[in-house]
Amino acid sequence: MTSIHEVLVIGGATSGVGVAHTLLKKTLPLAKAKNTSTTYHVTMLSTTPDFFWNIASPRSLINDTLIPNNKIFASIPESFKKYGEQFTFVHGAARSIDLEGKTVSIQNYTGDNNTPTTVSSLRYDSLTIASGTRTNDPVWRPGNGSKATQLARFDLYRKTLPTAQTIILGGNGPVGVETAGEIGFEYKNRDITLISSSDRVLPGLTPAVGKFAEKILGELQVKLLHNTKVTSHEVIESSISSEGNSTRTKVTLSTGEILECDIYIDCTGNKPNSDFIPSQLLDSDGYIVADSNLRTTVKDVYAVGDIVSNTKRTAIEAGRMIPVVAGNVLFDLTAGKSGKDTKYEPMTKEMMVVPIGRKRGAGSLFGFNMFSFMVWFIKGRTYFVEMFEKQVSGAAY
Ligand SMILES: Cc1cc2nc3c(=O)[nH]c(=O)nc-3n(C[C@H](O)[C@H](O)[C@H](O)COP(=O)(O)OP(=O)(O)OC[C@H]3O[C@@H](n4cnc5c(N)ncnc54)[C@H](O)[C@@H]3O)c2cc1C
Repeated sequence: MTSIHEVLVIGGATSGVGVAHTLLKKTLPLAKAKNTSTTYHVTMLSTTPDFFWNIASPRSLINDTLIPNNKIFASIPESFKKYGEQFTFVHGAARSIDLEGKTVSIQNYTGDNNTPTTVSSLRYDSLTIASGTRTNDPVWRPGNGSKATQLARFDLYRKTLPTAQTIILGGNGPVGVETAGEIGFEYKNRDITLISSSDRVLPGLTPAVGKFAEKILGELQVKLLHNTKVTSHEVIESSISSEGNSTRTKVTLSTGEILECDIYIDCTGNKPNSDFIPSQLLDSDGYIVADSNLRTTVKDVYAVGDIVSNTKRTAIEAGRMIPVVAGNVLFDLTAGKSGKDTKYEPMTKEMMVVPIGRKRGAGSLFGFNMFSFMVWFIKGRTYFVEMFEKQVSGAAY
């Protein structure tokens, strides 16, 4: 008699899509060869049915021609059609996991607005959690939000920025720096301020890289307000029309100062999407504790990508974790008869490439400070949209 082995992946971004393609293309055919009486099926559960290329958001939010929506959103069910009945996509949000009974309770959604439909559950034999993080603004990550919310936010920026004179961005990490750079490059003679919570931008990199980034930002007329946090922001006027948008936002700072601007862009707020994950799997910050094989403390449950505790939370790291998880699922499924127990080697060298405007940038590659043109060449030309296409189609795996 044939048994069905159900492999469930939660999350439909870089990590979840990468693991699902690797399982379907490489790992499960090998498992099937060892266990001919078993059928392997992959289900992906995700809050949006689109693979979203957040890496390109800083440029895509400028207008819809530089990097249009079809270069940052692609349908997962369409891209996985080639796997036929071996794959099922479920549009919904995980609500809880029963680790004993091996089921996940879900809120099903329909449509771009994530209209709630039924509550149901999915059974699994192996579970890979790739639920990543969420940000305050959905242009960076969908979190538990809908595609419609994301599209509305892109639309807001694309229609408001052309006439906005005063622009404030909160966040001194790569997202804030890249976005300020894109706006400064596109729009001259605007009042652009980047609020930075420490004494320099890009605090995750060496001071020299941060200083270099600040020099480029200065040349693009982006002002920096260091050692300051945005404590709240509130839209106080909003007029949205087909002619263009006009808004005013009040931004309150940790210094007590209150600023007003035409548009505020929040580039902060990575929080783990782990509300549905049992606390026994999590560290005190809400990230999943996994061993160097990316197995959690519970058998048959794996974690990959930004949701994993103590990692750098980059797509590069996720790319290194994907084959490890897919390989260890195979190893465990075949009771060690196929594949080998693979360990994830975290990157030890500094690695971050930060375009600032359309010609320059700052960054660190394997610990070496990069020349500006290298940043442009590696990431600034396209924001890696060519990788987006390869990842969602599976060609990258
Ligand atoms: C603007 C920007 C630029 C970046 N640039 C770079 C770069 O140049 N290089 C680099 O290496 N990294 C970069 N990163 C980081 C990179 O994007 C992340 O490391 C990567 O996206 C992590 O992918 P992930 O799949 O682990 O998590 P996420 O991208 O956070 O995806 C999580 C997925 O889980 C789904 N999900 C969440 N909750 C639930 C739930 N309850 N039920 C079901 N599904 C759920 C979400 O819908 C989503 O599909 C950048 C990030 C940003 C925001």
